[in-house]
Amino acid sequence: MARVIAIDGPSGAGKSSVSRIVGEKLGFLHVDSGALYRIMTWQCLKRGVDVDDPAEVAREAAKIAIECRAVGGRIAYFVDGEEPGDRIRTPEISANSSKVAAVKEVRDIVTGLLRSMTAHGDIIVEGRDITTAVFPDTPCRFYLTASAEARSRRRQKENADKGIANETADAVKAALLARDTMDSKRKYAPLRKADGVVEIDSSDMTIDEVVAEIVKLCGNAWGTAS
Ligand code: C5P
Repeated sequence: MARVIAIDGPSGAGKSSVSRIVGEKLGFLHVDSGALYRIMTWQCLKRGVDVDDPAEVAREAAKIAIECRAVGGRIAYFVDGEEPGDRIRTPEISANSSKVAAVKEVRDIVTGLLRSMTAHGDIIVEGRDITTAVFPDTPCRFYLTASAEARSRRRQKENADKGIANETADAVKAALLARDTMDSKRKYAPLRKADGVVEIDSSDMTIDEVVAEIVKLCGNAWGTAS
């Protein structure tokens, strides 16, 4: 049976970078669950859906076809045969994704897609409800966090490096905290630290240190790592 490493945490905690590297080291496919919610949001906005209307979002979500394929160490997503790339990384999509992700029907679709990915092999999945709702029974579950300052600093640099947006530190922090609040207060599968997960605060850690910690703990659980 395929093994699953589950990582949750707030925006900007470093989940994506860490998951990608741990996946490479252990030979687990990297699964970015947030990208699926972003694709749903992108498609809803593109199709003129009012994202403040959960019923409208639910109706449209059922029509969005996302194809998932294992490509070079990760699960890649295709819509109409194309990868969305940075089109789903804009501040507009970020700001609206929490609304779309709060809709139960959207969560059910994404959860189904995520669970089906074990068919591709061992996976490392990062998001907000992976340890609590999607794969709550896997032995390797982590809650990766960092101070709001560290998270906003990283996100601002990431966006500027990618040329996606050039926002002030204050604007990035405000958007990040607004998203945290929505994600942890929503009714269905809110972001929370589950009992029994290993919490890692990366505020004063390098990516390599976080990776080493996760690889070590997964190795203890499965005997897979050095
Ligand atoms: O991780 P990322 O910032 O790309 O996620 C975008 C949004 O998708 C989050 O703010 C959250 O609302 C939603 N999300 C979620 N559950 C997940 C992953 C992401 O609700 N497992």
